[in-house]
Amino acid sequence: MAEVLVYVDHVDGAVRKPTLELLTLARRIGDPVAVHLGPGAEDAAKTLGEYGAVKVLAADAPEFADYLVVPKVDALQAAYDAVSPAAVLVPSSADGKEIAARLAVRIGSGLITDAVDLEAGDEGPVATQSVFAAGYTTKSRITRGTPVVTVKPNSAAPEAASAAGTVEQLDVSFGELAQGTRVTSRNAREATGRPELTEAAIVVSGGRGVNGAENFHVIEELADSLGAAVGASRAAVDAGWYPHSNQVGQTGKSVSPQLYVAAGISGAIQHRAGMQTSKTIVAINKDSEAPIFELVDYGVVGDLFQVLPQLTEQVKAR
Ligand code: FAD
Repeated sequence: MAEVLVYVDHVDGAVRKPTLELLTLARRIGDPVAVHLGPGAEDAAKTLGEYGAVKVLAADAPEFADYLVVPKVDALQAAYDAVSPAAVLVPSSADGKEIAARLAVRIGSGLITDAVDLEAGDEGPVATQSVFAAGYTTKSRITRGTPVVTVKPNSAAPEAASAAGTVEQLDVSFGELAQGTRVTSRNAREATGRPELTEAAIVVSGGRGVNGAENFHVIEELADSLGAAVGASRAAVDAGWYPHSNQVGQTGKSVSPQLYVAAGISGAIQHRAGMQTSKTIVAINKDSEAPIFELVDYGVVGDLFQVLPQLTEQVKAR
């Protein structure tokens, strides 16, 4: 069976969920070969094998320590040269998309970004994308070179499948470009203890209806009771009530959780663009005519300051 390279997103060997989803999708096309860069490959290999990686190509070097993409592209290209895969799958994170794009240019292949599903096809993998502010769903395949595809988090439920997950060392020589950038400073955000917005299974978002930064605690309390991430509409972000890193939508982040709760958000097309592929959508809005109600699975017409605390209480009571 053809091999499919899967780029591993991990924190010191703790494999992140989007990679397990990629392994699940990769198995529809061929045998997943995981590419693990940085420390912790032996720890990661156990998990990667449990989700179907037949092999783990591992490399560790100081160049991988910072958030620089070019050394990682050098390594992924080395894996590509070693395996001649049928496809290369990369998580659709900010750096994942850059890594995939740079690899595609280097190997002369087409690139599909932000796929929400992937199937085997007679002429190569077929990717599903949600496009034009989630107004259309398209299916496409790459017609030139080895398909390079980035896949959005929460696109598939990770399915376990026992495989060897044997670690093999990957020889990487860094090109001149890898030496061309260095990190000069870092500003770490305060840890919230909440899941990363794009990876969370549940997202609770607040909009202009929250009416002030001092009221966002009602959103956070519901989110914390559900183990959810917190999102915000652009109106809330532009007003300075919540950080831009939490903005959902066309000019914010794109999320596709199992459950998306929109409170005090009207449902403008630009907001929908970032959340319309969520599996179940719940809205709380005091205006029964708000456009958000056109796409919800469950809607509550009411004041979020009355509804959310009750909801939080109910969730906590379970
Ligand atoms: P509003 O549209 O003002 O809606 C507030 C809602 O809250 C109303 O429906 C109201 O009925 C309800 N409400 C008020 N009080 C309560 C209450 N007490 N209880 C319950 N409900 C209440 N927007 C994004 O979100 N993300 C983007 O990435 C984005 N990108 C954009 C890019 C471009 C190029 C442009 C032009 C716009 C973009 N926008 C984006 C802005 C978008 O068009 C809307 O202006 C924005 O989404 C509105 O945010 P909102 O729903 O919070 O506010």
